[in-house]
Amino acid sequence: MTDPVRAPWEAPMRLALEEAARAPLTGDVPVGAVVLAEDGAVLATGRNERELTGDPTGHAEVLALRRAAAARGSWRLTGCTLVVTLEPCTMCAGALVLSRVDRVVYGARDEKAGAAGSLWDVVRDRRLNHRPEVIQGVLEAECARQLTAFFRDARGGAAETLGPRTPGSQDPGRQTPGSQSACPQTPGQRAAGQGPGNGLPER
Ligand SMILES: [Zn+2]
Repeated sequence: MTDPVRAPWEAPMRLALEEAARAPLTGDVPVGAVVLAEDGAVLATGRNERELTGDPTGHAEVLALRRAAAARGSWRLTGCTLVVTLEPCTMCAGALVLSRVDRVVYGARDEKAGAAGSLWDVVRDRRLNHRPEVIQGVLEAECARQLTAFFRDARGGAAETLGPRTPGSQDPGRQTPGSQSACPQTPGQRAAGQGPGNGLPER
């Protein structure tokens, strides 16, 4: 059955997925973003370029917002929608609020670092005077699959069965009240225990 809330965003999400698919060419985690104008026209795209540029802020959303602002000739992106394959982190959520976009649409949840409903909900914090609308779960399975495939390949192709998180990786107190039913295949979970630190996708 068609989901009337999410269906309109599937086409731009596919664009974001295409953009994300280019990131691994430079060793970057596949996250892609698209900024749409009020009429749905694509203003800008961005993909994770942290490894490519050596820039810790080189996330897909930040790059797409910068390009969209340049295209518009203004930092103020009122009326725009940012579509991204993975739930924004705190930095990107902050940038989204500052850019005054009307709406944030994302695919996969990031249970370990998401700031748009998972670990935090920066974009809808009532203490802020601008709160974009959030639509999550658009092509969620495809978005999650792209990320898990990347991390699986990065680990040498070893398939990882989905299981509970690494013990101690989840502080129950972190669950936000607004937390909704978790996708069982969020990249954050799949990546738990992998790599340095807490094993978050090194995006
Ligand atoms: Zn980010």
